Amino acid sequence: MQINLENTTKKLCVIGDPVLHSKSPLLHNTMLRALGLDYVYLCQPVPRGRLADWVYAAMVADYAGFNATMPHKEALVPMMDELDGDARLCGAVNTVAIRDGRLLGYNTDGAGFAAMLARKGVPVAGREIVLLGAGGAAKSVALKLAGIGAKRVTVLNRTLEKAESIREKAPQVIAAAGFTPDILRERAGHAEILINCTSLGMEDTAGQFEEFSFLEHLPSEAVVCDLIYHPAETRLLAEAKARGHLALNGLGMLVHQAILALEHMTGVRLDAAAMANLLEGTLR
Ligand code: NAP
Repeated sequence: MQINLENTTKKLCVIGDPVLHSKSPLLHNTMLRALGLDYVYLCQPVPRGRLADWVYAAMVADYAGFNATMPHKEALVPMMDELDGDARLCGAVNTVAIRDGRLLGYNTDGAGFAAMLARKGVPVAGREIVLLGAGGAAKSVALKLAGIGAKRVTVLNRTLEKAESIREKAPQVIAAAGFTPDILRERAGHAEILINCTSLGMEDTAGQFEEFSFLEHLPSEAVVCDLIYHPAETRLLAEAKARGHLALNGLGMLVHQAILALEHMTGVRLDAAAMANLLEGTLR
């Protein structure tokens, strides 16, 4: 991508380890160019243990902000001068704005997922949600959906303690259980929205769902989402589609969390629908 740099160009970045596969530079530079904003968005590998050095360097080098992926999201929390509600609740920061020498931490993952559902016309309020997995992404999504009025969010995870620790953050709305075929089948029967937040089905990982018979128990109107976008259609989504369900992959979440992150880092309010159209076209 061609980028015009001026002496005044402000710097943004994504950090992580690994990070070179990240789509964030493509997404953000595409938006910045379309908007005519004088920023450039870079990619910086930062290994575990070098985060404090990076934060210091970013402030000295006058970065306007940065995004963070694994393994830094939790470690950033105590380094922030301010945290937004979602970052505080999740105990994880994926977006940092640097303003007047202050570090402002945000988490846009859950809001990005919620914005994707809204864009697809899938309501959350009053609905029964079954969420598979209890890692960082699951936590952001579960807490956001609980916060915007889901009737119940049931978190199913192989390691039950991790599901329980998400439940403890909003015990009135969130339930926790294990991730066995029996539990999956039983809980799927109540799901209006089923969301895979595990890494099962992701490209280049050995893991896959053992079988998909739990989909037979889903109500016919249920929507099936997968946070994974590599491949664009996981086996879970293909199986759900074959059974007539609306099946949504993780690209919408990726796009919307980036739009929200750019708003925080630049302080510029964006037209989310226009930006989402632009980014979906870029990623296609
Ligand atoms: P994570 O913290 O490593 O969590 C992984 C989750 O997968 C855990 O709940 C883990 O269960 C479960 N899992 C892994 N292997 C399993 C197996 N064989 N059987 C059952 N459960 C298994 O990862 P994350 O950051 O939350 O990311 C999860 C997925 O979301 C990834 O595929 C990632 O690419 C995707 N994601 C997408 C977006 C987006 O913008 N679309 C954003 C973030 C993440 P245990 O707790 O028992 O280990």
